[in-house]
Amino acid sequence: MKFYSTNNHNLTADAREAVTKGLAPDNGLYMPEEIPALSADFFNRLPKMSFQEMALAVAQNLLSGSIPPAELERIVSHTLAFDAPLTEVEEDIYALELFHGPTMAFKDFGARFMSQLLGYFAKQQEREIIILVATSGDTGSAVANGFLGVKGTRVVVLYPSGKVSDIQEKQFTTLGSNITALEVDGTFDDCQRLVKTAFLDEELKNKYFLTSANSINIARLIPQSFYFFYAFSRLQQRNKPVVFCVPSGNFGNITGGLLAQRMGLPISHFVAATNINDVVPEFLRTHKLTTRPSQMTISNAMDVGSPSNVVRMLDLFGGDVSALQKHVSGYAFTDDETRAAMRHVFATAGYVMDPHGAVGYLGMKKYMREVQSDVTGVFLETAHPAKFKEVVEETLGREIEIPSTLQKFLSRNKQSKKMSSAFSDFKTYLTTEF
Ligand SMILES: *Cc1c(COP(=O)(O)O)cnc(C)c1O
Repeated sequence: MKFYSTNNHNLTADAREAVTKGLAPDNGLYMPEEIPALSADFFNRLPKMSFQEMALAVAQNLLSGSIPPAELERIVSHTLAFDAPLTEVEEDIYALELFHGPTMAFKDFGARFMSQLLGYFAKQQEREIIILVATSGDTGSAVANGFLGVKGTRVVVLYPSGKVSDIQEKQFTTLGSNITALEVDGTFDDCQRLVKTAFLDEELKNKYFLTSANSINIARLIPQSFYFFYAFSRLQQRNKPVVFCVPSGNFGNITGGLLAQRMGLPISHFVAATNINDVVPEFLRTHKLTTRPSQMTISNAMDVGSPSNVVRMLDLFGGDVSALQKHVSGYAFTDDETRAAMRHVFATAGYVMDPHGAVGYLGMKKYMREVQSDVTGVFLETAHPAKFKEVVEETLGREIEIPSTLQKFLSRNKQSKKMSSAFSDFKTYLTTEF
């Protein structure tokens, strides 16, 4: 399988180049040249297949010829070392829980798959791969835990000092081994600027094989299609159209769903739900993409003002917004609405949603109210509520237990290197101390 750049379909790369470089040389995002439909036999067997079996078939479909089947099988079973169960929270509305991985957010799927794939490609080259990642919280923890101990790779996590939660900080500053955490005296934007500047620095590029682990990497996108197949296959009620609602920020997760649909999974419709950072719902309404600075909300992993995967969603429909609109509706919700939904679902079903999942629930309800009610709805629960302990406790007026998966990080010692937000300091660190 080859991958082309969304900026120029004639500019192609093999899987190795697409995954190790992340971004195409013309700054486009990589997409698979073909997205073959899976066979009728595959769909007949789907309800009886394990999560790993169906994911392997999907991965093979998109990576054929790029990696030996036995190696891909190992990578898929490593990635899916935990389940993604469905919970019915109301009649015909299910939460797809994607938070049972080591850092308890759906980013574990993408980070674990990407780390293993990069580790495989790293073995075939002499130079170590250095992964730079700027984080406002969740990405850093998923990436650091995904890459921990992967030979031939080292990870540098840059995060804004004092601006991530305790639990998030502990998830990437306590690992040691091939993971280094840099605590930057500045904002998330400063961290991102340092990473971007490093990629343009000739001296650093000569010294190191640098790559990024943010959500534009195709290796993070592919595994995000797996759980759409899994959820679909496990729904008991399959005589109604199935609609998925995806709480979205950079729109990588929903793009994984669109890939699944393109491979033949009969998903009737998608709802993209956002917080007040509503660039995409507005785009679907007006056909004009207006990016803007992000605004802070309680679903902060979706505070994105310039969502990078919109170009991929459009590319799937040949750049035609009206065609995209036939498959995706967009709705935005305020923090007050999000809190009210968390309270309502807890009161009626005893189910605790995190703020991101709550935005997904709201999107599903709105679609059923305004467009089509007789559907089976699945919204993605993208993080464990304990990851947003303060907001959840304050909203529900009760204490939330921290699961042992998160608790074990809290007892460990933080190790970070403090750093100013000046690029010269970052560069000196990378060239002399690292
Ligand atoms: C990253 C994240 C999202 C948004 O996912 P995108 O793929 O960027 O749209 C939603 N919820 C949580 C908890 C996240 O960490």
